[in-house]
Amino acid sequence: MAKDMKEIKKVEEINELGWNELIPGAALFSFTEPVEDVVEVPMEERPYAPTNSHEWQVGDWRVEKPVYNRDLCIDCQFCWVFCPDISILSRDKKMIGVIYEHCKGCGICVEVCPTNPKSLLMFPEHMDNNEALSMWPKKEEKK
Ligand code: SF4
Ligand code: SF4
Repeated sequence: MAKDMKEIKKVEEINELGWNELIPGAALFSFTEPVEDVVEVPMEERPYAPTNSHEWQVGDWRVEKPVYNRDLCIDCQFCWVFCPDISILSRDKKMIGVIYEHCKGCGICVEVCPTNPKSLLMFPEHMDNNEALSMWPKKEEKK
């Protein structure tokens, strides 16, 4: 019988369930500790739950990758907020880059980037990042 996640109190209980026992759309745990104890902890030291996408490497799903152009970035953090896979690395509100092991190439970070031209763009997976940077488009004039 399908089980509501609200009935589950410990992350370990998830491992005893089959996927067909969770109701569709059930939210999974992000951390093994309460979120208020985690917000100040650096990203790589957080106690990620087994159900957190940080624990899974989905980089080999990509056919295109986001390439980051530091010269254009205004550190607005939109990409960091909207990335569904915790793949944007940022420190002290300064964007650092993309963690490719966790990035599945969905392109959401590119969609939300507000600069002109964008500071993140999708390129073929096997293209060298320096080559991608050399092909960056120019600023688009307003029509
Ligand atoms: S392409 Fe998707 S998964 Fe990868 S960094 Fe951008 S938003 Fe995150
Ligand atoms: S959304 Fe674009 S401008 Fe904003 S931090 Fe990310 S890369 Fe930089």
